[in-house]
Amino acid sequence: MRRRTFCRTTLAAGIAAALPGCGYESNESSASSTIAALTSSGAEINIETSAVSELAGELAGRLLLPADDGYNLARRIWNGMFDKRPALIAQCQNTADVANAVAFAAERGLLVSVKGGGHSLPGKSTCDGGMMIDLSHMRTVDVDTENLTARVDGGALLGHVDVATHQHKLGTTTGVVSHTGVGGFTLGGGYGRTDRLIGLAVDNLLSANIVIADGSTLHASEQENPDLFWAIRGGGGNFGVATEFVYRLHPFDPTIYGGTVVFDLSKELLVLYGELSASLPNEASIEPQIGLDEDGNRIVTIEVCYAGDHATGEQVIAPLLTLAKPRAADLGAMEYRLLQTGGDAFMRHGRQYYMKSGLMTALSSGAAEVIVDYMSRDDPVASWFQHLGGLPSTIAPDAMAYSHRAAALNLGIMVISDDPSEMDERIATARAFYKDVEPYTQGFYTNLNDDTEIKTWRNYGDNYLRLVEAKNQYDPKNLFRLNANILPSV
Ligand SMILES: Cc1cc2nc3c(=O)[nH]c(=O)nc-3n(C[C@H](O)[C@H](O)[C@H](O)COP(=O)(O)OP(=O)(O)OC[C@H]3O[C@@H](n4cnc5c(N)ncnc54)[C@H](O)[C@@H]3O)c2cc1C
Repeated sequence: MRRRTFCRTTLAAGIAAALPGCGYESNESSASSTIAALTSSGAEINIETSAVSELAGELAGRLLLPADDGYNLARRIWNGMFDKRPALIAQCQNTADVANAVAFAAERGLLVSVKGGGHSLPGKSTCDGGMMIDLSHMRTVDVDTENLTARVDGGALLGHVDVATHQHKLGTTTGVVSHTGVGGFTLGGGYGRTDRLIGLAVDNLLSANIVIADGSTLHASEQENPDLFWAIRGGGGNFGVATEFVYRLHPFDPTIYGGTVVFDLSKELLVLYGELSASLPNEASIEPQIGLDEDGNRIVTIEVCYAGDHATGEQVIAPLLTLAKPRAADLGAMEYRLLQTGGDAFMRHGRQYYMKSGLMTALSSGAAEVIVDYMSRDDPVASWFQHLGGLPSTIAPDAMAYSHRAAALNLGIMVISDDPSEMDERIATARAFYKDVEPYTQGFYTNLNDDTEIKTWRNYGDNYLRLVEAKNQYDPKNLFRLNANILPSV
């Protein structure tokens, strides 16, 4: 009760203070003030402050308006290219908060963005003038060591999952930068250094709680709401807000055999890498990053992770050292967390990022030629491969919405800068690079592209129509549209 009174008070003060600078003019008068917001179709609407106060009173978390303490921090996402200002930020503490916020937004047709870890490359977890549903205060991870499961809040980061599970010598697949969110990561597929051995995040997802567009909460699993469960495993944030995920855990020794091997960049090396990567057992993940050393030489740094017996790992990885003469090699027993957090600082919050992804069933000589060409130019963009295949490729492409089961590699092309004025030119280079390599790709990773609806359609292949059916059922008005959007057909 006391909490509600507090929220109402700060909200009222917030509304009054927020209006001049928030970018959305208010129709405030002393008796019936309103705040301006945008609907999902872009129309301006005025929301009664009494309704906003009521919502704030219902939340265990905070409802932030532009002048509130914490608003500027909450609206921020990882990619500094997107500096948007939602009219409202519902900073949720639990599923009931999310349900209240969704119902409020749905009733008014508000534009809605959902922020989990905030790592959306194309900036879809924020919006101008709508409501951001911010899950960053929902980050609890509970590990069940008997049943080998982890219950994870929808706003947790991958590092939270790693820390909580590895201390029990258990693990599930998480990605390569620890401050990425479980939300977007899992709903789009979820690649990581262990996916070849134990599956993608979607392959390990046992259930989820989803707040759908009418504000109700559904439990989705193979047994309950199986169509929704099928759709959320690859269909992204299209079907509602996931407030909780339950993952299968596997025995996992957090001291792995791994490290790095550095080579000079050449087409031959990339082709040999592609052949070797296709022949390795599922315990092995070898992932090249192509870039420059301090002297400007083009190099390929291959990150190695062997999640199994170390002596066997040494034998399995030995052929990597013979692909060409390494410039350097540093392999041995190492803490997995060092690999998992090694890119965190470089890929820090607030820089300008642009990225493309291309999935390949094999690394052809043509693709290698394009990569070497672009990487040999002045001021090259960053590029790398994620090593796929293994266990995920044994699962049928229609078993769930995620369909790219034949992919062996995911090519990433990325532009990073701290200077916004550089971005247009660098993005143009990344796009040209992608255009030239695209003929050698078979689709893209939904989580990493600035896709269009038609591209999203093609990318899901035969699964798209079933996704549309699920969208019609769970979000017929397309409330959840800031994602790789599946358009409802009703
Ligand atoms: C530095 C970096 C490293 C990455 N590494 C990997 C990797 O190793 N493997 C990999 O597979 N991917 C990787 N990705 C891609 C990553 O999976 C996507 O960017 C993903 O969307 C991030 O999820 P998030 O919750 O942090 O993002 P957010 O920006 O919070 O969300 C992105 C979108 O996901 C949806 N969403 C997020 N949370 C929820 C939720 N709880 N319920 C419903 N919808 C939700 C929303 O539609 C939102 O627009 C990486 C991205 C970055 C920036």
